Amino acid sequence: MKPPPFDYRRCASLEEALSLLATHGTEAKLLAGGQSLMPMLNFRLLRPAILVDIGRIAALDGITEDARGLTIGALARHRVLETDARIATHFPVLAEAMAHVAHLAVRNRGTIGGSLSHADPAAELPMMALLLDATLRLTRQDGAREIPAADFFLGSLATALEPEEVLTAIHLPFLPPGTGWGFAETAPRAGDFATAAAACLLTRRGGVITMARIALMGVHETALRIPAAEAALLGQGPGAFAEAARIARDAVEPNSDLRASADLRRHLVEVQLGRVLAAAWEKAA
Ligand code: FAD
Repeated sequence: MKPPPFDYRRCASLEEALSLLATHGTEAKLLAGGQSLMPMLNFRLLRPAILVDIGRIAALDGITEDARGLTIGALARHRVLETDARIATHFPVLAEAMAHVAHLAVRNRGTIGGSLSHADPAAELPMMALLLDATLRLTRQDGAREIPAADFFLGSLATALEPEEVLTAIHLPFLPPGTGWGFAETAPRAGDFATAAAACLLTRRGGVITMARIALMGVHETALRIPAAEAALLGQGPGAFAEAARIARDAVEPNSDLRASADLRRHLVEVQLGRVLAAAWEKAA
């Protein structure tokens, strides 16, 4: 498979990339790690006139910490998220999820900005962005806007990004003390895209849950949170886990495909959630 012909510009600065996007609009495609874009070009699912390579813009890389949380540059590689000490300390669920993304070679190239912008319904990072209440910074030539992850994912491979915008940074607010986490994924083989996955965060205070977040992926056209299941956990303990898992199972309407039936995916939601809630409760102790 070979890609269709295209012009190529390697950008030295964000300003250069933004200028090219402003000029070429929907004819341009950003290139970051290339791990999703290049296969799509090779299959001729996309035919951009020009590739705007942002992969070497140092200002888009790196992780910074302030009093409110971590800000991750869009070019941070999957492997960095998996191994960075600050991620491990503050967001261990993210480090765990990254170990399930593809294989090492892909994780060495793929970027958080590319994965969120690509918005594959079975990708780990969109689910993590929802779980961690991330805020995404979208930059264009004449300014920038910040958008909650909850408003960013519009459908399978569809986001709120405008053609002239670059996702430049992702902010993750710190979690309350006493927050535990759980992550479970089912895939045909290690490194494959997930058939289904579940993750949760529980804050435990005075023997009850004071904050609950549940995120799923692979069971809808986007990753999603399950507010009714989260609400069922507040003020409760492990006795509420089975009911919350049932609520989540009944809330999703997955597709059947070659990998799994809709019924199997619903079953996985219930089983995975039972496990991740128990794990999070233990870790929160
Ligand atoms: P690119 O491929 O460069 O770009 C992807 C899309 O995002 C393009 O449309 C591009 O224009 C746009 N884009 C890139 N950066 C930005 C930005 N900063 N702002 C706006 N738009 C931008 N992913 C998983 O989550 N789980 C898996 O299990 C998994 N398995 C994989 C297995 C294989 C064999 C391969 C090749 C890939 C797999 N992936 C998986 C995808 C991988 O994680 C990709 O790296 C990721 O989805 C895209 O990141 P990228 O930096 O390579 O983006």
